[in-house]
Amino acid sequence: MTESTFAGLVSRWYEHNARDLPWRKPDVSPWAILVSEVMLQQTPVVRVLPAWHAWLDRWPTPAALAQDSPAEAIRMWGRLGYPRRAVRLRDCAVAIVERHGGAVPDRLDQLLALPGVGTYTARAVAAFAYGQRHPVVDTNVRRVVCRAVAGEPDAGPATRPADLLATEELLPVEPAAAALASAAIMELGALICTARSPRCPACPVESICAWRASGRVAPAGPTRRPQRYAGTDRQVRGLLLGVLREATGPVPHQRLDQVWDDDAQRARALAGLVTDGLVEPVGEASFRLIGDGPPAPVPG
Ligand code: SF4
Repeated sequence: MTESTFAGLVSRWYEHNARDLPWRKPDVSPWAILVSEVMLQQTPVVRVLPAWHAWLDRWPTPAALAQDSPAEAIRMWGRLGYPRRAVRLRDCAVAIVERHGGAVPDRLDQLLALPGVGTYTARAVAAFAYGQRHPVVDTNVRRVVCRAVAGEPDAGPATRPADLLATEELLPVEPAAAALASAAIMELGALICTARSPRCPACPVESICAWRASGRVAPAGPTRRPQRYAGTDRQVRGLLLGVLREATGPVPHQRLDQVWDDDAQRARALAGLVTDGLVEPVGEASFRLIGDGPPAPVPG
């Protein structure tokens, strides 16, 4: 890789500017990297940091997590959001123990076959934990590649095979250098080539960026508004889950009724938690986190 290629420029910038994040340390286990990648989806780094440390203090290996209940995984997930990730991560730990003797596999096909591990996470673990050459494409990477290579301001709708191909073409041939470049492109998208205000003068690829060369035309169409949370079913689900997380046993319906006035919305949110495998009924009139104790008696 020469210093003047896209990957070379971004990698050199990364070596001097990357954030000092614990999951990037050289002695971090593949399991710790997998946990970080799952937590970082849809959640900012600052919120992930304490949760990641706490999770790995309690479950330093997949085997440790696999022995615990899904309810405990939901409790430890706390308020990170999208708590199905906690249950899927525990399912993943169980599968790692059953299929791979407790070691996170290094083959892409085996990673992709794990519960809750998709295109992005599998490649991120293969690259960042095992130093392999794979295109690791998240929103930030798609945006950087789209701007720098195609000269378009926004990556637009996801076109997964095309995204993977476009990113792979930028990677050096040597696996370790490719893995470094993957981390570097992602970091560039997070810190410099941001969605709303790219800082082109501070960018290591400014001289070869197609969007910059084209005069940097502003994105067409309205800017996406942040998603509303207050008053949504998501908020009600969070409130219900908060009560169930704090409880040491089944929680009576009447207690859950107190978290939200709108009966229909509360019932919908509770039903959604049950459907998503986060909560289960106990008898006729109580609920608890999934797997929180001995098997629940079947109602009726
Ligand atoms: S020069 Fe600007 S638009 Fe191009 S990759 Fe860098 S920050 Fe993004």
